[in-house]
Amino acid sequence: QAKAAGRNAIRLFDPGLLEQMRARSQLEAELRQALSLGDLRLHYQPVVNVAGGVIGAEALVRWQHHERGLVAPGEFIPLAEQTGLILPLGRWVLQRACEQLAAWAGQPGLDELVLSVNVSARQFRQAEFTDQVRAALRASGARAHLLRLELTESLLLTDTEEMIAKMVELRAEGVGFSLDDFGTGYSSLSYLKRLPLDQLKIDRAFVRDVLTDPNDAAIVRTILALARSLDLRVVAEGVEIDEQLHFLRQHGCPAFQGYLFGRPVPVHEFERACRPAA
Ligand code: C2E
Ligand code: MG
Ligand code: MG
Ligand code: MG
Repeated sequence: QAKAAGRNAIRLFDPGLLEQMRARSQLEAELRQALSLGDLRLHYQPVVNVAGGVIGAEALVRWQHHERGLVAPGEFIPLAEQTGLILPLGRWVLQRACEQLAAWAGQPGLDELVLSVNVSARQFRQAEFTDQVRAALRASGARAHLLRLELTESLLLTDTEEMIAKMVELRAEGVGFSLDDFGTGYSSLSYLKRLPLDQLKIDRAFVRDVLTDPNDAAIVRTILALARSLDLRVVAEGVEIDEQLHFLRQHGCPAFQGYLFGRPVPVHEFERACRPAA
């Protein structure tokens, strides 16, 4: 039908779609520029233990846009994935996170924090990914055992053996691995057992409704039991209220992340909250 329309085929396009494409390519150009101008930031969100002590942080990228202010990753990570900009972006995040880890060495309240860094599928699949991580560690002087990479289940579903080999290689250096948004994918128990993981992160969708939805409560309990039997650490994401924390603690969850304990904040604010009071 498009062919029959000949030179006027463009009319078959929805003008809304055209507008969307224009907005997308503008965003892409701006993101490319943001990378070269240094307009990306890392914010840090605390991970706490049952005593409420900060044991780690997750590094979360933000884009400081000249007009739009601070832009959340949900608005540009998917585009970065599609365009390949995720590769330089991901490398920058990794380097910046390692520099931060190195800067925390020897500082009271910060010295032993484990820093989690999100790694996207395309980034992890690069042939040189393991070299990149080693280079970031070496250049910064960060201690590898304090770096934890967050992967998603879907990333590990294809070329699983190859992905496992990369994980094994980095684990030999001391780097840890966390399975992010756990429970939303399709991992079977036997599959999970094969992965060289350190930690599961319970997706916040389950934590959100844990008090009202019996299915979600059952899923959370199952993940906690699973983590125990596989000898994995586990963190509950998206803890916002005391009642959720209470439920999680009651069922043996050892670590938590969420607005109840702190939102992702710029590094100086995060450090202020972690340093012991003088
Ligand atoms: P994620 O890795 O699952 O990160 C947790 C997200 O949940 C963060 O959103 C965090 O701000 C939010 N969150 C934490 N606690 C709560 C809570 O109590 N309630 C609610 N409603 N939300 C909470 P953020 O920073 O917008 O990041 C969204 C996603 O973007 C991340 O999900 C991650 O998949 C991706 N992302 C962030 N930074 C990076 C990065 O440096 N590289 C890559 N590849 N992806 C990133
Ligand atoms: Mg994450
Ligand atoms: Mg998550
Ligand atoms: Mg996520």
